[in-house]
Amino acid sequence: MPLLSDLFEHGLLVETGIHGVYGRGPEFERVLLAFDDLVTRAAAADEPETLRFPPVVPRRQLEDAGFFNSFPHLVGTVFALQGDELHESATELALLPAACYPVYPAIAARGPLPRDGVTVDTGPAYVFRHEPSDDPGRLQSFHMRELVRLGAPETVQSWQRAWRDRALELLRGLGLEAEADVGADPFFGRTGKMLADSQRGQQLKFEILAPIEGPTAVASFNYHQEHFSSTYGIELEGGGGAHTACLGFGHERIVLALLRQHGLDVAVWPAEVRSELRL
Ligand code: AMP
Ligand code: ZN
Repeated sequence: MPLLSDLFEHGLLVETGIHGVYGRGPEFERVLLAFDDLVTRAAAADEPETLRFPPVVPRRQLEDAGFFNSFPHLVGTVFALQGDELHESATELALLPAACYPVYPAIAARGPLPRDGVTVDTGPAYVFRHEPSDDPGRLQSFHMRELVRLGAPETVQSWQRAWRDRALELLRGLGLEAEADVGADPFFGRTGKMLADSQRGQQLKFEILAPIEGPTAVASFNYHQEHFSSTYGIELEGGGGAHTACLGFGHERIVLALLRQHGLDVAVWPAEVRSELRL
């Protein structure tokens, strides 16, 4: 039986009739929350600042940050009925496509960064990407937990790479056959291919892949250099532009990889894995 039907059959996911939009049953949710707590414990040493944002974002913010240019195919815009005639038109809102977008303007508004920069924890944010698919690992609506680092260039880049290694260890500690690799974002169109090649060439993005239907990115580590800091004017304490990086765990993909690895009955997962997750 294909994995997706099996997940429905076992009550792990709940069908809605739309590809990539699923409800979560009690066992799936229990593992998702347990993994989220494991990330909280792993991130504690960074003493990140907690900042939470809603799953909608001003469309203007995504335009300013270049999301509409780079990923127009993934955007979801909120439409609403308006006026006396109740005609449908676009609102000022889009669905949040990655947890970190609202963080940059919020930190920029505070003025120059403190000496050691800033680390933010977005918590598990609901994000949307318009990529309907019957691959159980490719969702339209899913949770992304991000940590975001803003600071001096060397600090930020070494943070990104250190976290790639920490996260690999953390995921292997859950019995996943995880591997790190250089990655690239799905930039739109022909210029998109050039952008992706350049991103790969400069090793700006790493991903950790684990098997679901096939090898699937379950976590990503992005070094944006001055992209967001120049958009929003984020400065270092003594002057000069900051750099930024973020890492994102895809919670549903991680639960799916665990189910694929250890079986659909969480009660009989290996004791070490259950204990690591405090299940
Ligand atoms: P990205 O910003 O594209 O690097 O995504 C960050 C993380 O979100 C990835 O490493 C995945 O774990 C997860 N993710 C991205 N796209 C999807 C999707 N369509 N369905 C489920 N998880 C996703
Ligand atoms: Zn991000």
